Amino acid sequence: MTTTSGAAYVFLALCSGLAGGIVGKIKGSSFLAWFAIASLLPLFGLLAALAYRWDTNELRRQCPRCGRVTKMHDAICTRCGEELDFPDVAIAPESARYTR
Ligand SMILES: [Zn+2]
Repeated sequence: MTTTSGAAYVFLALCSGLAGGIVGKIKGSSFLAWFAIASLLPLFGLLAALAYRWDTNELRRQCPRCGRVTKMHDAICTRCGEELDFPDVAIAPESARYTR
């Protein structure tokens, strides 16, 4: 029987799920969604929650040629290949709409 290691895994998954859920909640996303992801995929889910937070806090801008919204740090449009100068107007990060 592997009851002990099974219980240890469940405990680990719950801890990871809680951590991922809290990170998701702080970011303004769903606690339950990130709890589910992080408990099903313990390490990966937690890392994804952290990466998700960084990604959506970044300023964005729109490509003047094709209209694609890209990250502020992108020098070249990922859709049409247009070279992008530093924009006059930045688009608020995706996370901003949660903080009203
Ligand atoms: Zn473009």
